Amino acid sequence: MSTSTSDVINPATEEVLRSVELLDVDGVDEAVARAVIAQRAWARLAPADRAAALRSFAAAVDAHVPELAALEVANSGHPVGNATWEAGHVRDVLQFYSAAPERLSGKQIPVAGGLDVTFNEPLGVVGVITPWNFPMTIAAWGFAPALAAGNAVVLKPAEWTPLTSIRLGELALAAGLPDGLFQVLPGKGSVVGERFVTHPDVRKIVFTGSTEVGTRVMAGAAAQVKRVTLELGGKSANIVFDDCDLEKAAATAPYGVFDNAGQDCCARSRILVQRNVYDRFMELLEPAVKGLVVGDPRAEDTEMGPLVSRAHRDSVASYVPDDAPVAFRGAAPSGPGWWFPPTVLTPQRQDRTVREEIFGPVVTVLPFDDEADAITLANDTPYGLSGSIWTDNLSRALRVTRAVESGNLSVNSHSSVRYTTPFGGFKQSGLGRELGPDAPLSFTETKNVFIAIEEA
Ligand code: NAD
Repeated sequence: MSTSTSDVINPATEEVLRSVELLDVDGVDEAVARAVIAQRAWARLAPADRAAALRSFAAAVDAHVPELAALEVANSGHPVGNATWEAGHVRDVLQFYSAAPERLSGKQIPVAGGLDVTFNEPLGVVGVITPWNFPMTIAAWGFAPALAAGNAVVLKPAEWTPLTSIRLGELALAAGLPDGLFQVLPGKGSVVGERFVTHPDVRKIVFTGSTEVGTRVMAGAAAQVKRVTLELGGKSANIVFDDCDLEKAAATAPYGVFDNAGQDCCARSRILVQRNVYDRFMELLEPAVKGLVVGDPRAEDTEMGPLVSRAHRDSVASYVPDDAPVAFRGAAPSGPGWWFPPTVLTPQRQDRTVREEIFGPVVTVLPFDDEADAITLANDTPYGLSGSIWTDNLSRALRVTRAVESGNLSVNSHSSVRYTTPFGGFKQSGLGRELGPDAPLSFTETKNVFIAIEEA
């Protein structure tokens, strides 16, 4: 069934962790056939039984948080504090959506001559395709609400980071989820991912990754009018006004962009600072950047680990040539591992570092003149995923949050993701929303049924 293998490498040490078998098209087709059968039985189960199965899965994840975290540290180089949070987040997402099977209640609509009701029917088999930057959490945003709504899920993890997804698949089975209902299928995007798109029994694709591949997935899905949710790239702005708590804005700005070594679709990778406080902000930012603890991801106090792979480190480094306008840089270990120091650039507005998603620990800082200029700059990108606004003026905070074309904004913080609130992008950052109370509905079709009532 599987035709090849791929080595999974620890990005902090460059050591091979494990060899993983990659599925071919026949392997995907077999898995989808099993998923179709499992889904029919799952959808017929009583809602309370589906809820209980998801709660068991959540409990199994909870019992394995340290193991899952250690696996992510080794495979992705995430600092252990972050990886522990990520594993706990998977448990919480499962727990949250385990309440959904008993709450997908449809509607009763008043009509003449009968009774009209709607049902939220599951789609069938859902294909979830994930990127390498947050392997566990992003997978859970797809599989938990999809399963809760009565679907089966096939999950394709990214080639570089499959290990925690594979383990989650094992935990689901051990927790009692029916065989075939949730299958993790490692493989290449061009093989397994594309087969999800072309397979007629995969009724929806949840794709998280680059805008380039996402547009391809959407075009392929159009051939079967296949449903898609797309979570794509970002180039988000952190807008710092002169009336904010400047010390706090500067102290937190590194965490808004360098979390996960900047490999975060929500990274606030463009800091926009009002011109009259620009110099002071840079004075405050420098010690904050230099103080970031970059190093061994297994250490509890580490704040930033390595980049995920050599190829990605080379791509990030290409944005910082020798003559780059570097304001200052933080630290990075030498020796083995794909390290890159936190780097602050002060380029011109049209520079490629301002326009392209670097997906590494590189941030650009630009001055702006007034509120209108800040909004124009923030929106001058094809992306629209997240962003932050720092101001103590409530009216300004509301004016600017309404004007910035972005799906997830935070005022005086850098928060983007809570499983209880919707998440997703404007413009080329995506299509549809994940998380929040309505996520299970995006894994259903609304069926309307009219029942005639005979006159007495
Ligand atoms: P990528 O687009 O290269 O790959 C994403 C996934 O798609 C991988 O599993 C890959 O194997 C698969 N794939 C590749 N070609 C395919 C094809 N032809 N058909 C189907 N699947 C295919 O992205 P990446 O480099 O893994 O991740 C980084 C990107 O993901 C960044 O742009 C980042 O902004 C984005 N991202 C977005 C969000 C969000 O929620 N908006 C979250 C995390 C990452």
